[in-house]
Amino acid sequence: MTAMNNQPRPSFKSPRFAQPATFMRLPHTDDLAGIDVAIVGVPYDGGTSYRPGARLGPREVRHQSSLIRTYNAFQKVAPFDRLNVADAGDVDPPPVSIEKAYDAIEARIGQIAGAGARPIVVGGDHSITLPILRALARRHGRLALVQFDAHIDTWDEYFGGKYFHGTMFRRAIEEGLVDGRRFVQVGIRGPMYGEDDFDFHREHGITVIDIDQVKDRGIAWTIDEIRRIVTGPAYMTFDIDGVDPAFAPGTGTPEVGGLTSHEAIRLVRGLRGLSLVGGDIVEVAPLFDGPGQITAVLAANVMFEFLCALVR
Ligand code: MN
Ligand code: MN
Repeated sequence: MTAMNNQPRPSFKSPRFAQPATFMRLPHTDDLAGIDVAIVGVPYDGGTSYRPGARLGPREVRHQSSLIRTYNAFQKVAPFDRLNVADAGDVDPPPVSIEKAYDAIEARIGQIAGAGARPIVVGGDHSITLPILRALARRHGRLALVQFDAHIDTWDEYFGGKYFHGTMFRRAIEEGLVDGRRFVQVGIRGPMYGEDDFDFHREHGITVIDIDQVKDRGIAWTIDEIRRIVTGPAYMTFDIDGVDPAFAPGTGTPEVGGLTSHEAIRLVRGLRGLSLVGGDIVEVAPLFDGPGQITAVLAANVMFEFLCALVR
């Protein structure tokens, strides 16, 4: 244990509902010196195609993270003893231009990676993942990718636009940021436009583990498959709509018949030991959330499990 590491504000001295909300009540700092993992919010939802509101995700997820205790009894790790973690605040993306928002996101993630810290990003809609991948691939080279999602997000364009929350993984392959053969999508389901929606997957060797495979073959099999495919420097992107709307209603494009919250947590735990260079949780739209802010609570816990998985 390193006594110098940041620690969440102690809950026996400060009630969990006190003080301005940071992720898990960690110190907020813009100074990245000595930080191993930086929590960063991206309150941007200009890439949304249906119900907007994921711009409000970072604030609500920080709020709901206040309850999380610091020892992970399932991964058997106390992450704050092993990693120096800080809440690095939010990017300030211009809300009216996706290109300018992308520039702001890429610049901030580039700073974080340049300082030697691994980012855990809370969005924001899923379009924000492209500039994150741009910044991280510049530092680490072409990345492996594990995507939890109901949707493939490899479409070509929308209303003539190349950038929105359904195209970023086609762009990431085209730009050479992600290796299709080390890219797996988990939890895919719902109606598609047509069978040719998967042409791009076949062309680039992208693996889909759809929701029926997850449910029929089980969590352990799914984790084995992920670990077989996701080799080398890797990024995790977790679209909360990969989880069933019964567990995560607070999102913009819900698809029925998804992962349970327990399955989601188990899958993220299964990433432990991969060469993870960062990750994100996106598409939490608090205005559509259910009683008790259950979606934001789940998102906060996914972030905690992912943080624990970063401990080597
Ligand atoms: Mn989705
Ligand atoms: Mn998505």
